[in-house]
Formats: sequence, structure tokens, C-alpha cells
Amino acid sequence: MSLFANLSEAEPDAAFALIEAYKADNFPFKVDLSPGFYRDEDARPWILPSVEKAKQQLWSDSTTDHEHLPILGHTALLDRAQSLIFGATCKDAATIASIQTIAGTGANHLGALFLAKARRPRSVWISDPTWINHHEIWQWVDSRIERQTYPYFNKQSFTINFEDTISTLKLKAKEGDIVIFHGCAHNPTGIDFTKDQWKAVAAVCEEKNLVPFFDVAYQGFATGDLAEDAWSVRHFFYNTSLEMLVAQSFSKNFGLYGERVGVLHVVCRTEIAKSKTLNMLSRLSRAEITTAPINGARIVAKVLGDADLKQQWQKDLLHMSHRMKSMRKRLLDALLKYQTPGSWDHILTDIGMFSMTGLQPDQIRQLKGIYHIYLLPSGRISITGLTEHNVEYVAMSINKVVTTP
Ligand code: PLP
Repeated sequence: MSLFANLSEAEPDAAFALIEAYKADNFPFKVDLSPGFYRDEDARPWILPSVEKAKQQLWSDSTTDHEHLPILGHTALLDRAQSLIFGATCKDAATIASIQTIAGTGANHLGALFLAKARRPRSVWISDPTWINHHEIWQWVDSRIERQTYPYFNKQSFTINFEDTISTLKLKAKEGDIVIFHGCAHNPTGIDFTKDQWKAVAAVCEEKNLVPFFDVAYQGFATGDLAEDAWSVRHFFYNTSLEMLVAQSFSKNFGLYGERVGVLHVVCRTEIAKSKTLNMLSRLSRAEITTAPINGARIVAKVLGDADLKQQWQKDLLHMSHRMKSMRKRLLDALLKYQTPGSWDHILTDIGMFSMTGLQPDQIRQLKGIYHIYLLPSGRISITGLTEHNVEYVAMSINKVVTTP
């Protein structure tokens, strides 16, 4: 009998299972609305021109080797990543402890591990709904930390439950609890707090002495504007005295999904805390990965450090966010043209890659089984799977499953 024969088995990851099912489907007009990857006008992966240029420059340099990075990661990347998210003046604060991670997932994980080891919090507050991995990460890191949810999203009206979120944090969260926020382009709902709402949320965090943990996976990718997408983080950083964490991913905004580039920032507010935090982060990371991968880090550092490449990158971001906005409009127009029952206006006003459709499990099964259209069981669609060639077909199929008894 194996030592591992009694392990409990969980369902396979829904997102990755759908990717495999989609690949195996031979239907010529299949549509993939499930993954969180940007796709171009023909639903193919897109290498950003800024990234392509950076790669050419890096790989033609014969001094580019394959040595380890330092334990904290690629120094220029860390420096530029800080400025990107906190703004150029963040150096004045000078108390941010930053370490390179295995993309955004690794930053979330290392941040959770750090908090669990440094000062095990009583609870972590997670938006309902959220990116599927938040619960997984915290559960595996330390199941003694209670995972609680704040009621972020109203599934009937496709709006934010702002009052309920505020009252939950005010009445139920306790000093020192962690609160996970999506910095921009909330996954899976595609709807963010307004600036006034962010200000109110920050005030509650200050009043209750909560520890904000921002997950930023879509900076620049959401609106096409880097500063706008970092507004929430910068508001907390400059206008409160809270210590906070930021998990920064470069997967989506650089199209570097498989390169696994990310950074974890811990805002410590004092020099001594920063130095101790860096020490602990180094130890935790050393025990897990020794050092982070080098290739993607070089690419991101190169683009962020070169004025021409950075300008090109900003064009690339605009290109992606414009394409998503135009697909949102095309989908809404087509759904309305078919007089599809339901509430669809939010498709246009949502931000970033995702929207919730409100489709029911049976309708989602029909979309896959009859029409070869793939979306997550939650009803979330990824707008990037839409193209001029398939958007009409998608709207027509949604209309069919919604109107067929
Ligand atoms: N955080 C959120 C909110 C996400 O949506 C994602 C990706 O889907 C991630 C983190 C993970 O990103 P990465 O691929 O960089 O690990």
C-alpha cells in the first residue's frame, strides 16, 4: 500500500481542463472564451512588438549568459517594476522591499507565505467572486488562517456591492487581517471600484488597521493607461500610512505568460522593517526556488529601461485594450440585435479581459456541447477569444441557449 494511496482527490483545475478540451475539439468554428490569455484578431497568441524588439537586442548580445540571478532577482527589473506600479516618486518613500517571483501567482504565494510566517494573521478577506487561485494559495500556505469573503459582486445587477463590502470590512474584519484587492480589471467580474469608492475602502482599512494585499495582474492592459491602472495602489501608498503588499504580474501586459515574470513588493514604512522583510523574503524564496527565472526578467527590464521600447510597449498596451473594447461593443451590439433576453449592458462598461454573463450551468454546457463555445462554469467569458469572425456566431449561440427552454 502506497503512502499516498489515501490522498483526497480534487476536481481538475476548471480553466486548464477547458484548455485541453478546446485543443482536442476538431470543430472548425470552435471558440475559446475561457482562458486569461490575450489573443489577436485571429484568436492566436500575440507576441508584443516591443517584446520582439527587446528579444532581438538581448539575444544578439554575445555577453548574454545563463547564470543565476541574485536571490532577490534582476536588480534593474525590481527597480523599474517599483516605479511602474508606485510611480516615479516612490523612491522618496524608500521603504519598499521587493523580490522577483514566479509571475503573479508566485508573488501571491510568496506574499501569503511571508505573512503567515512573519505574523500569522487571523483572517484573510477575499472578494466574492475572485481569481480561482486566491483561495487555493491561502489554503495551502496555512489552513489555520481563516479565509473569509467580502460580497464584492451583485450577480443580478452585475454591479459592485459597495455598501455591503464596506460594512463587512467595517463590522467583521479585525485589526491585522489581510484584505486582498484586485488593483484593476477585477477577475472574473471585469468591474472595479470607482476612485471615490477606493478612497472609502482605504479609509476603512486605515480605521481598522487592516493589511491591504493588492493583486495587480493587468496594469496597462485594463485601460491602456499605466498610471490609471495603478491608481488604487498609488492612492493607498501615498495617501495612507498602511503597510501593504503588492503582487505584480508581467504575464498579461507583456504577453510573457510562460516566462513567469513577477515581483512581490512589501511596503514597510520604516527602514528597519524593510531590511528585516528583505531578509525573510530572501530566505523563503531561497528555500523554494533559489532564484527566479532570468529570460523574462531581462525582457521586461529591457523594455522598461529603454525609452523607445517603452514607447512601443505603451502602443502595444493600447492596441490590446482597444481591441478588447471594440470586441465588447461588437458582442453587445450582436446580443441586442438578436434581442437576447437578459442584462448585457455591463459587457460594454466592464474593463479588461473578463465579464460575467450570468449564464447558467446548463446553458454553459449547451454552448460547449452544441456550439463548441468554451467558457468557465462560473459564466465568465474572456473577451480576447472574440474576433470579427466569431462574434456573431457567439452572440447567436448565446441567444439560442438563453431562449431555448
Ligand atoms: N492574479 C490575477 C487576478 C489573475 O487574474 C492572474 C491570472 O489569471 C494572476 C494573478 C496570475 O498571473 P500569472 O500568470 O502572472 O501567475
